[in-house]
Amino acid sequence: MNFLVIALPTGSGLPVVAAELIAGARELASKTGGATSVAVLGNGVLEACKGAVAHGADRVFFVDDPALVNYDADCYLPAMELVVRKANPAALLLSADTFGLELGSRLAHRLGTGVVNNCSGISMSDDGKLLLTRPVYGGKAVATMEVLASPAIATVTPRCMEPLPRDESRQAEISQLTLRIDSTARKARVVEVRQEEVSGVRLEDAKVIVSGGRGLGDPSNFKMLEELASVVGGAVGASRAAVDAGWVPMNMQVGQTGKQVAPDLYIAVGISGASQHLAGMSRSKHIVVINKDPEAPFYGVAEVGAAADCKRLVPLLTEKLKRLLQE
Ligand SMILES: Cc1cc2nc3c(=O)[nH]c(=O)nc-3n(C[C@H](O)[C@H](O)[C@H](O)COP(=O)(O)OP(=O)(O)OC[C@H]3O[C@@H](n4cnc5c(N)ncnc54)[C@H](O)[C@@H]3O)c2cc1C
Repeated sequence: MNFLVIALPTGSGLPVVAAELIAGARELASKTGGATSVAVLGNGVLEACKGAVAHGADRVFFVDDPALVNYDADCYLPAMELVVRKANPAALLLSADTFGLELGSRLAHRLGTGVVNNCSGISMSDDGKLLLTRPVYGGKAVATMEVLASPAIATVTPRCMEPLPRDESRQAEISQLTLRIDSTARKARVVEVRQEEVSGVRLEDAKVIVSGGRGLGDPSNFKMLEELASVVGGAVGASRAAVDAGWVPMNMQVGQTGKQVAPDLYIAVGISGASQHLAGMSRSKHIVVINKDPEAPFYGVAEVGAAADCKRLVPLLTEKLKRLLQE
């Protein structure tokens, strides 16, 4: 089965999530003797193309056009369609972020096929069918789905796959595709791009996340979560209750209407564990909860829990970890 990974460079190099998707696609393609191609779209994409090869692409197609300098679905769609028709994949993978979710769905409509969004895993059935798994009912169950039309399109949540180490000695064909992108035909225009201000690790990239909820009692208590996160090299997230209270900005919200994360370790502090919160973090590898109510739903998904007052426990935990990590 041949795969095509769509990479939308956000900076000069290949985005980490594209490297993750290449690794996932390669694993399945190798089982069927197929190949993994990568489509790199943007303006000034040479480094990203080289990155795709180093991370395992068998072939790279790129479209480099000033009209693709900023994300714009009306300009990206014809470029994507061109690459798909050229590469003719059986399955197409995109990142389940704002851009991938929009492009995947619109491309599916154009190609007359189906898309499965927010997948947490891709696998192959014994008879060679592509199986796509995604959380449903707010993360309470997992559905396995198959796209009956071709190519199958899937958007995959970041950090669900492990990228292959970069290998500069790899070689693959890199082909440029050109088309006339009529940027005057677009229905919306990007007026300004503002970089999100992040001090430390981005929530989506963090291997450890310490999230706080209403149980913190006061916005100033997020400071102790920042201290804990800095000791373990993690990022701080929040529940919607904490965001709605105006304690922290919206870009910190984890959940159904917030960010989808899948860190190695998720520490939930003073969060009850409503299904809408779990929907955004239930793919975390290890889950720890600190909640004074031992009946809180979070205990149902956590591996380790401490039914204690977070204001007392978190500073003690931070001190202990600081000492342990210094030893
Ligand atoms: C359509 C929709 C979408 C939503 N999307 C999201 C979303 O994306 N993300 C999200 O988070 N929510 C979302 N919600 C809201 C969600 O249903 C919950 O209301 C929210 O997650 C609750 O936040 P919380 O756990 O911080 O607060 P609460 O439910 O009030 O829980 C606070 C917890 O803190 C504990 N606690 C209190 N004091 C302490 C203490 N001193 N020490 C330790 N523990 C303490 C309590 O026992 C309690 O369990 C959504 C809701 C809807 C309807």
